[in-house]
Amino acid sequence: MKKEKEQKPLTKKRKVWRAIGWATPTVLAIICMQVFKHFPSIVETVFSKGISHFFNSTLGYLISWIPFSLTEALIIVALLSIVFLVGSLLVSFIRFLFSLIFHKVEKEEETEEEKAKSKAETFAAMRFIGWFVGSVYLFYVVAFGLNSYRYPAAQLCDLEYTSYTSEQLYDLCCELADRGSTIRAHLKEDEKGCMTFKESLSHTLAHAGDGYKTLDDRYPFLSNPVTRVKPVLLSHWWSYTGIEGVYFPIFMESNVNIDIPDYAIPASAAHELSHLRGFAKEDECNFFGCLSCFENPSKDYQYSGYAIAYVYCANQLYSQDEKLWLKAEEHLSDGMMRDYISYNTYWEQYQGTFQDVSLSINDSLIKNRGVEDGSKSYDRVVDLLMMSYLKNQLFPAE
Ligand SMILES: [Zn+2]
Repeated sequence: MKKEKEQKPLTKKRKVWRAIGWATPTVLAIICMQVFKHFPSIVETVFSKGISHFFNSTLGYLISWIPFSLTEALIIVALLSIVFLVGSLLVSFIRFLFSLIFHKVEKEEETEEEKAKSKAETFAAMRFIGWFVGSVYLFYVVAFGLNSYRYPAAQLCDLEYTSYTSEQLYDLCCELADRGSTIRAHLKEDEKGCMTFKESLSHTLAHAGDGYKTLDDRYPFLSNPVTRVKPVLLSHWWSYTGIEGVYFPIFMESNVNIDIPDYAIPASAAHELSHLRGFAKEDECNFFGCLSCFENPSKDYQYSGYAIAYVYCANQLYSQDEKLWLKAEEHLSDGMMRDYISYNTYWEQYQGTFQDVSLSINDSLIKNRGVEDGSKSYDRVVDLLMMSYLKNQLFPAE
């Protein structure tokens, strides 16, 4: 019979390393975020254009070809696990109550040795979970999180923040409405007279990034081979969260809600793809999303870009000058108006406490990435659109 190898007791030094080893990835991730936020040039060159770009254009590209959303699959597995865990805890609690009531001892007393073993196993499992979660967080930080501290999009696009008048904003609104209305006249409509896709949904989503190919020449930092966005199959239920699209940085995967009215889907898909191109701030992703839609060969994308950009600019104009806003509205065609009404009607049916909670979680997540105004930062896209417009760089060259 083979003699079992005797287990050596852990030395004090090894015990210390073992105790702190699980926390190393988390500590490294926190140090990275706290230190590098003061060095945007290092973030820009080493992370955004280096490590993050490498992961996004290799792993991100491979994952984009998996025909279903890994993010959605993960959420389903997580929800089922929570249900299973809660169920198991409930069963254990009921069994415990029964044993108390009927004085039935179901379990034999553990020996001291068994107790020590069970304690050691629990600590080992906790250390592993701590190390695993920390490692995932560290990956998130280097592959995406640090992009919050890269150079601002305005600087990368050679734009300067300048004040603009309500009249200038009105001019932009009119041009967006005119361009949107002209394209809208040639788009396919459903039975309610609302815009619908010319091609199938999967074909449309597979070409979400086509506009970026043209933009790559002007802005090489947007270069990335991924053009595909994943549809979320349970989008109808997802709408209760009030969210139209999500970028999950661990899988480098852009996902879009396919239950919302068609007109808003292309702009949402293009927005998520700009996260994949190394941008974490929502106003900047809105900006690149709109630009890429304007440049996309598909009329569906062009229209979606102009229509969404109009909404942001018109809302800003409304807060500055209501009369000018009313005048700008006159530039919208009946088709565009029908699309906006159908969009508002769609979201009205999902309003409620669940949506409020979900949107406030989203707001906190954005604030956690260092954006002080959270969800309101989406609206700051108007500044970028105006700067680009005033520099004659906003619309595709004729
Ligand atoms: Zn976003």
